[in-house]
Amino acid sequence: MLFKEIIGQQEVKGKLLSLVKDDRIPHALMLFGPEGTGKLPLAVAMAQYLSCEARGDEDACGVCASCVKFEKLIHPDLHFVVPVLKTGGMTASPVTDDYITIWRETLLSNMYITENQWYEAIGVENKQGVINVKESETVIRKMGFKPYESDYRMMIIWLPEKMNQPAANKLLKLIEEPPAGTLIILAADHTDSILPTILSRTQLLHVPPLPESMIRQGLASMVQTDPQLLEDAVSKANGNFSVALRTMRQDENELYHFELFTGMMRLCYGRKIIELSEWVDKVAGIGRERQKQFIDYALRLLRENFMLHIENGALNYMSRKEADFSVKFSPFIREDNIHDLVEAFTLAGNHIEANGNPRIIFMDLSIQVIRLLMQKVAGTA
Ligand SMILES: [Zn+2]
Repeated sequence: MLFKEIIGQQEVKGKLLSLVKDDRIPHALMLFGPEGTGKLPLAVAMAQYLSCEARGDEDACGVCASCVKFEKLIHPDLHFVVPVLKTGGMTASPVTDDYITIWRETLLSNMYITENQWYEAIGVENKQGVINVKESETVIRKMGFKPYESDYRMMIIWLPEKMNQPAANKLLKLIEEPPAGTLIILAADHTDSILPTILSRTQLLHVPPLPESMIRQGLASMVQTDPQLLEDAVSKANGNFSVALRTMRQDENELYHFELFTGMMRLCYGRKIIELSEWVDKVAGIGRERQKQFIDYALRLLRENFMLHIENGALNYMSRKEADFSVKFSPFIREDNIHDLVEAFTLAGNHIEANGNPRIIFMDLSIQVIRLLMQKVAGTA
């Protein structure tokens, strides 16, 4: 991770660089501030800069042997501690090293990972991870080794607020009497539950929320997308780049499903069998997970359209594009076909779940939709 790859935070970067340049590197450094501001990438960039064999004034070189290892997060002097919890078939007190491969992969795919996204990655959503005393013992052992390749042994502790009391007490001893050549970088979303004695022995560096302009620029540099989706993500972010990224991906997904759905309905309504067959080929290739998401999306939009038809109701739960489409589409979703449409899509979803052949499932579904839309049409499209 290079400093230049991190969105905004010029002031924090400047302070980190000057710690190295002025040779004032503390034993323990705490980056703290709200979620999604870049504390974790800043911690990694700082460690990489410190370890780089040819560092410049503003950044690591990105190409030396040390940087190459940092780009894969496999430098032997770089260690991580993150909150974890027991998953299937594990010992009672798991530590980060039990999850290190998935941690590296997850972090490399999203440096702005949130606590919840991490728990999703290890398959334990809706539970809380912890940093336990066994982990602190591991940290002390690792920090006791001589560095292998760098001048420093570097330990990044992500979310130190998840340390339980015994773990925190043990870590405190290390922070009070660190071996020479130790750098511990803590990246905390919340400092209120961290031992005051730990806070008082670490150099604190606040990482503020990102301004909208930075979030916009950061998103634009990462993804090519519809400008309206980008603005939507910027406005929902509230300084949190993780939220901006997540919103962006969700919106892109929704838009993709919307286009699949409207495409299918137009082809079915027009009985365009050859084009429908191309549509089916496309959907057959997107993978089971996305096919199930599409079915869920289609069910939602069908129900919304039925509500709109019978109640002439509000378009509360629809995006602008969905609402525009539904004004013309809802006359076709009536009492006499909604039940069969819902059943057809639900059944298709079940067949996908049961590993059925997606080409056959979606072709069958299309033929049923043609029939159901054609039943004595009310209104015009
Ligand atoms: Zn380098």
